[in-house]
Amino acid sequence: MTDTNAALPTREAHLRSILATVPDAMVVIDERGRILSFSAAAERMFGFAEAEVLGENVSMLMPSPDREKHDGYLSNYMGTGERKIIGIGRVTTARHREGYTFPIELSVGEARIGEQRIFTGFIRDLTERQHTELRLQDLQSELAHVGRVSEVGTLASALAHELNQPLTAIANYCEAARDLLASPPDEDTLEVIREALDDAARQSVRAGQIVRRLRDFITYGQTERKVESLPRLIAEANALGLVGSREHGIEVDVELHPNAQNVLVDRIQVQQVLLNLIRNAIDAMIDSRVRQLTISARPDGDDFVEVSVGDTGKGISAEVAEHLFQPFVTSKEHGMGIGLSICRTIIEAHGGRIWFESPAGGGTVFHFTIPDAGALE
Ligand code: ADP
Repeated sequence: MTDTNAALPTREAHLRSILATVPDAMVVIDERGRILSFSAAAERMFGFAEAEVLGENVSMLMPSPDREKHDGYLSNYMGTGERKIIGIGRVTTARHREGYTFPIELSVGEARIGEQRIFTGFIRDLTERQHTELRLQDLQSELAHVGRVSEVGTLASALAHELNQPLTAIANYCEAARDLLASPPDEDTLEVIREALDDAARQSVRAGQIVRRLRDFITYGQTERKVESLPRLIAEANALGLVGSREHGIEVDVELHPNAQNVLVDRIQVQQVLLNLIRNAIDAMIDSRVRQLTISARPDGDDFVEVSVGDTGKGISAEVAEHLFQPFVTSKEHGMGIGLSICRTIIEAHGGRIWFESPAGGGTVFHFTIPDAGALE
């Protein structure tokens, strides 16, 4: 035996002791996705003992649709060598033994042992704040600029008040003119009618200026739209939306139609919409026995993709429903009531629609449409 070989067991023991203490979970798989090693942190994070998962398909640690697709991802990579995650890392979601989904940051490395390839995944649970701070700061600072869109919501309601004045004045002037015309007018009366119509015209110019001011503000705040991957966009928003929700044991189901792939959007803005809808859904399910969040996407046949966020929560009360997308409507003690009005501003700026339905079985489903980019390619 050479010296190097003699050192091997010691090195392995050293390596194992490091792996036992790093807070990130580590899962090693072979090229067919079977689990070869499962660190102590992974046992804690997923609720499985190493002995239970060795030899099993790693997809058991993923929620749908990754669960069904992972074998395909692997064989695709083996066939094409195209890297979608290896060496890149991403924010996504994982599935606990008890069935709930939690946000993670996943980095995957690849190594060759002789003829064999193995993949090592390092998984960081993003549920706990202190771990998440760094990665979240990135994503959230992007999202922060959306604060500006909420200003649009506030501004819009202020401007609606302002618009009311000239519109009321126009109506008054027109009615006065009509009344004065009831009997054949003399020259003086005609002069008064002329002035009233002049005033009405001036007021409509003013109303036009107010509308233009709002439009300028919105276009000023607009950011560029690009072709974005919808599955990726949803996965990130989902992970962010689940931060801090672990104790609520939310089960998440993501159902993506194969033809809902690319969308032409401002990614950050649409993620903000999803984030608002997911947070609302989670808030609504706090007191529910079943806590099932369902996110789905499908083409709606009209150059748009429809995205839906459904929950098994308490549903929307009639009085809230009536004014749902207006600013400052809230049923929450600390709610601002601007989330959904921001969502509507964003979706309508993309040319889409947003609405909700209350399924017979309970809960709420929000739907929105955004431009499909599939056809562009
Ligand atoms: P906020 O969350 O600050 O109250 P939103 O505009 O996002 O503001 O939501 C307005 C109101 O709509 C909420 O206070 C809640 O009453 C209701 N709501 C929104 N989403 C849901 C949902 N998924 N289930 C039940 N109620 C909801």
